[in-house]
Amino acid sequence: MKPNLPMQITALDILSLIREVTGPSSNTNVIPLHEPCFQGTNAFSYVQDCLESGWVSTSGKWVSEFEGLVANVTHAEHAIAVTNGTNALRLALYVVGVQPDHEVLMPSLSFVATANATSHLGAIPHFIDIEPNTLGMDPLILDARLTEIAEFRGGFLFNKETGRRISCIVPVHIFGNPAEIISICKVAAKWNLKVVEDSAEALGSFKNGIHCGLFGDLGILSFNGNKIITTGGGGVVITDNADYAKRIRHISCTAKVYHPWQFIHDEIGWNDRMPNINAALGCSQIEILDTKLHQKRLIHAFYKKQFANIEQCEIIQPTSDSFSNNWLVALRMCSANVNVAHKLSNDILAAAYDQGLQLRPLWTPLHLLAMYQNCPRSSLCNTIEQASRIINLPSSPQLYKNLGHTHIL
Ligand SMILES: *Cc1c(COP(=O)(O)O)cnc(C)c1O
Repeated sequence: MKPNLPMQITALDILSLIREVTGPSSNTNVIPLHEPCFQGTNAFSYVQDCLESGWVSTSGKWVSEFEGLVANVTHAEHAIAVTNGTNALRLALYVVGVQPDHEVLMPSLSFVATANATSHLGAIPHFIDIEPNTLGMDPLILDARLTEIAEFRGGFLFNKETGRRISCIVPVHIFGNPAEIISICKVAAKWNLKVVEDSAEALGSFKNGIHCGLFGDLGILSFNGNKIITTGGGGVVITDNADYAKRIRHISCTAKVYHPWQFIHDEIGWNDRMPNINAALGCSQIEILDTKLHQKRLIHAFYKKQFANIEQCEIIQPTSDSFSNNWLVALRMCSANVNVAHKLSNDILAAAYDQGLQLRPLWTPLHLLAMYQNCPRSSLCNTIEQASRIINLPSSPQLYKNLGHTHIL
């Protein structure tokens, strides 16, 4: 089964291991990192129902149906469907009280939406380093950073260096692997900070049996086309807090006061409600979530086996108390010398590009992007190092078909 591995494994050797999962590719048939799949699902009939009934926009039966299905999967008391994950984050930050000129603590290693949603409210990202195990925010570094720069004034927390209020923490569950969220929430409680979990990538991921997004005050999910399941574009806010849920429903629907015929809006709201046509697609996808989770477990396990005996790299694993949805499989170069590791990951990326395999480096850390380079931050050594060591491998659920008759679990 396994190729005979030379002592000094090359980028091409690594690609041939990856290829046993992806199968062949070519210039005209690129293997994508993660692609949606609708064949064999109810997507066509549910969307057709919207078209035939004319209910394609911000009201209709599929939206509440979809919210109910998300609540079932996550065991959240409340689920509110909105236009995308970025807007879900912005709404969640707004209702916990993030205001212009506040600082919001978050990892620098995330998709740019985490920082953008904060900026859309006029607030400022404050970056905290990650721990290499989960790639999520490090609770010890978070606490140390607050000890160094924060003080209470009149019951509120302020950054002594910038004079700004610090009001919220946004941990991110990277690639569907739960962060050290329990410890992070303890630090939040100690410093009297709200927690909004960016669980955009973590539908179907649990820690100690609790779904990601339900440890803090609110959590958000994304249903963008590249996530584990999709609504085309969409997001959901999940929470057990009835007051937050009510408030989000109100301001995401133009703050319209219920009335049979009059149009009265009692504050400045947003138009963030998920359209019915997207929710219909979402219902057809969430019906097959268990199948996708199973397929992703097989893919992750197969990659893990492929790299089990390779010294230079390892497949990143969730912690033992976690159940991961395995959204994107991540490969870490392990060389003690970070430059050697970085060179290997670059060589793999370049060779993969030539072969029509879509691999991806980690996101450029947010504090290195032009618009966020002046934001306050802890030391970000782990972030920089891990970003140079890790690449993502093709992880579409439908790749399980290539695993053939191998017995891997
Ligand atoms: C996808 C994603 C988002 C944003 O979701 P959209 O639906 O694309 O707006 C936010 N945070 C993280 C970590 C994501 O991966």
